[in-house]
Amino acid sequence: MPEKITMSADGTLQVPDEPIIPFIEGDGIGVDIWPAAKLVLDAAAEKHGKHVAWKEVLAGEKAFAETGSWLPDDTIDAFREYLIGIKGPLTTPVGGGIRSLNVAIRQILDLYVCLRPVRWFTGVPSPVKHPEKVDMVIFRENTEDVYAGLEVEAGTPEAVRLSSFLHDAFGWDIHENSGIGIKPISEDGSKRLIRAAIAYALRHGRRSVTMMHKGNIQKFTEGAFRAWGYEVVRDEFASQAVSWDDCAGKPGDKLLVKDAIADITFQQVLTRPEEFDVVAATNLNGDYLSDALAAQVGGIGIAPGGNINYVTGHGVFEATHGTAPKYAGQDKVNPGSLLLSGVLMFEHLGWAQPAADVIAAMESTIADKVVTYDFARLMDGAKEVRCSEFAEQIVARLP
Ligand code: NAP
Repeated sequence: MPEKITMSADGTLQVPDEPIIPFIEGDGIGVDIWPAAKLVLDAAAEKHGKHVAWKEVLAGEKAFAETGSWLPDDTIDAFREYLIGIKGPLTTPVGGGIRSLNVAIRQILDLYVCLRPVRWFTGVPSPVKHPEKVDMVIFRENTEDVYAGLEVEAGTPEAVRLSSFLHDAFGWDIHENSGIGIKPISEDGSKRLIRAAIAYALRHGRRSVTMMHKGNIQKFTEGAFRAWGYEVVRDEFASQAVSWDDCAGKPGDKLLVKDAIADITFQQVLTRPEEFDVVAATNLNGDYLSDALAAQVGGIGIAPGGNINYVTGHGVFEATHGTAPKYAGQDKVNPGSLLLSGVLMFEHLGWAQPAADVIAAMESTIADKVVTYDFARLMDGAKEVRCSEFAEQIVARLP
């Protein structure tokens, strides 16, 4: 019988064998990738006696056409009620009053972690020599930083007013005709993100957590992010984790928590990727790093993502690419990003075996060079298949 996922008092998800999970098909190529992803996820779940009771909810163009709203209240209510959901890509409405539907969903549900695992799949064409050395999980802060949208445009009365206030109150002289943005980084916001990264690393037997920051320049925002992170290690995880400074880089059997300046991080994830495992980052740094790393493993088209609030239990998993409107309805594109987001969701629900089966089957499909157009054009001797065929081929290879 279909049942709701709930959260118990100790903060763990209670997942029935037939959970009700809301999904947004997504605009553009959503009509192609959602059925493909669903086919594989359902087949993998069934093999382990599980069944997802999918519940369609609307957002984006389909919602606007049917209800006149880009993001109906019913959709948010469903995500609230059923805790965990998944979505395809959504068009950002132009002049619709909402800057981005994706950002709106994250903000309304306070999904403070953007979870982006990055790893290589055998056979995926990559621009580097050893993509297999990349196996990282990025925890990107999702609610603060320059993404807070606190900006004034150059030359406007607001900018002039802010500039003169900053001059009068702080003696700060800002160049005339500047746009000005505010970068808030809070103690609570930083700590809950880093706490989630450390807890994840411990749960999954990861070796280290690296806090990526630009604290040498931005001392009271990025530098504070680092300092608050080390406080979390000492105050909350002392028996299981240790900071670099407290162990001289020798953590014994504890989880090592260290930090790295953002610019050097971009060099070292290329030159010494094996030294990075879980990475906790502020919003903008995490945004850049997620896509740079996805490119490093050739996986920009198949990178999965999840937006999670570990305190309330809410999570929305999503394809990380856009709606690719020129391919919409052609049964052509790669469903990998949405499918692997579903895998990430299964892992989050504790469905480790169906998740591992999908990964194994997808890996062997790609290793057999049975791929969609985006990989086929980069591989020698590949067999190009349609979006739906790629999904069928994965199902055929499920263990
Ligand atoms: P995009 O939709 O990601 O597409 C850019 C290019 O990426 C495509 O032309 C295609 O490259 C490749 N691509 C994307 N998805 C693919 C897939 N599943 N398989 C294979 N290749 C794929 O970016 P965009 O054109 O900048 O954005 C279009 C719309 O999407 C905008 O309205 C934007 O606001 C929205 N968007 C939504 C999200 C979201 O919902 N999370 C994220 C980003 C953008 P080739 O043509 O080279 O093959």
